[in-house]
Amino acid sequence: MINELNKIMEQAQEAYESYQFVSGKAKKEFLYCIADQIEEIGDELIHTASEETNLPIARFNGERARTCAQLKAFGDLVAEGTWVEAVIDTALADRKPFPKPDMRKMSVALGPVLVFGASNFPLAYSTAGGDTASALAAGCPVVIKGHPSHPKTSALVADAVKKALTQCGLHPFIFQHIEGSSFELGRILTQHPVTAGVGFTGSLIGGRAIYDYAQNREVPIPVFAEMGSTNPVILLKDALIHKAAEMAKAFAASITIGVGQFCTNPGIMLGIKSSSLNHFTSLLAIELSMVPAYKMLHDGIYNNYTTALDKVLFDKGVETIYHAHAEDPLTASPVLARVSADTFLLNPELQHEVFGPFSLIIVCENRIQMINVWKKLKGQLTTTIMGTENDLEINKDLVDIARNIAGRIVFNAVPTGVEVGNATVHGGPYPSSTDGRFTSVGMDAIKRWVRPICFQDCPDSLLPDELKDFNSLNIFRKINGEYSRDNV
Ligand code: NAP
Repeated sequence: MINELNKIMEQAQEAYESYQFVSGKAKKEFLYCIADQIEEIGDELIHTASEETNLPIARFNGERARTCAQLKAFGDLVAEGTWVEAVIDTALADRKPFPKPDMRKMSVALGPVLVFGASNFPLAYSTAGGDTASALAAGCPVVIKGHPSHPKTSALVADAVKKALTQCGLHPFIFQHIEGSSFELGRILTQHPVTAGVGFTGSLIGGRAIYDYAQNREVPIPVFAEMGSTNPVILLKDALIHKAAEMAKAFAASITIGVGQFCTNPGIMLGIKSSSLNHFTSLLAIELSMVPAYKMLHDGIYNNYTTALDKVLFDKGVETIYHAHAEDPLTASPVLARVSADTFLLNPELQHEVFGPFSLIIVCENRIQMINVWKKLKGQLTTTIMGTENDLEINKDLVDIARNIAGRIVFNAVPTGVEVGNATVHGGPYPSSTDGRFTSVGMDAIKRWVRPICFQDCPDSLLPDELKDFNSLNIFRKINGEYSRDNV
């Protein structure tokens, strides 16, 4: 195994030596071509993904569209070129007491990137998902360890990427696909001297193990792991009074979408003890009871779900509000539970993500306790505030608190469904991700795979095009403190 992995990583390094210099326009052509090749697979991809994951066909029509749109969006980004954040500070020869040198900086590709495909999004977060698309856009070759729960889907997508490489005449080892399911494989790849960065989506235990492998290397490397989150929701007074039915419907759908196997699943909801909170809880239980139980992705996730559920539901002080027992293997029924804030605060175990169609309502004595519980939660991908205009007006301070809790603050909407855009942040304080300064979804995901490089007093002819005096690329640059498309 070691020899084979060494060969793969050396090939990735060889590809990096030329791929890092490939133009934005050529990378766009490649990323568009991958999208076309994925579309080309047709129904076979959709059916294979559905068979391997127990998720419905309709889900994969949407996920494929998102995956292809994401690839193309990164293509557009790098073809335009401004993303390298070129900064030019020209020389001041007569500056006193010392002359100022000519300094020019931009972002350059980090090196070969290792991606761990995620189990819960076999297309959008896996083989040619966001991590791969953003790394390829940055100019980094990708070695993907396909997730063992959807090997056929992963192989089909990998084949599409390989075809795109051939069609675009690029180095054949810009993308390599590895199958396997031993932790040792993940460890060796993470610790291989050629690996320059890692992208991961999955459990806290898995992400943390990979992060630790990376820090224990002779040369530590960045690991961008997106791990669990309970995505706490704050339910404010007037919203509970006036919008209970609407909220119950929306949150039942959000808790159960994809059988709860979403990292933005609203796993914790906080409200102040009141008849309106009780009413909302009953309505949510009714809505959940109308959602059929579906099969989960694989045995491991199902077993984790049932074990984590048992831990929470058998905990002293936790009241089960709704729990229909499903008979079929792998089938997970939605579950709703309730606990007092006092009990919750005494038991840190209740903070753990229960990955599946589950949510826990925390009943707080008053606003101060609600804020106290919210603040005590560990780092989150998202946090949501549900309130009327009046609620939000008298609770302005909540926004300041939310900023310290999560990477994305949602107002009056469910947290599931992550838009792939220029302003997207899908990452947050640890343990929701290993580096809350970055996002794994959206255009800024590319920033994980670059490092800044500065050229000092470099002759114009030796500079990358982005930093030359004559801006033939027509990109925005920061020249002596001002943004412009001008030439120097
Ligand atoms: P996982 O266990 O975290 O595994 C994801 C990937 O990481 C797999 O390829 C796995 O390798 C690898 N891995 C895990 N632990 C490792 C270690 N110690 N050393 C090296 N590699 C390691 O995730 P999963 O299999 O998708 O699901 C398991 C649980 O993860 C779920 O029950 C859920 O709690 C959580 N999860 C969370 C999210 C989220 O978005 N927050 C998404 C998916 C899963 P192998 O291929 O060898 O198994």
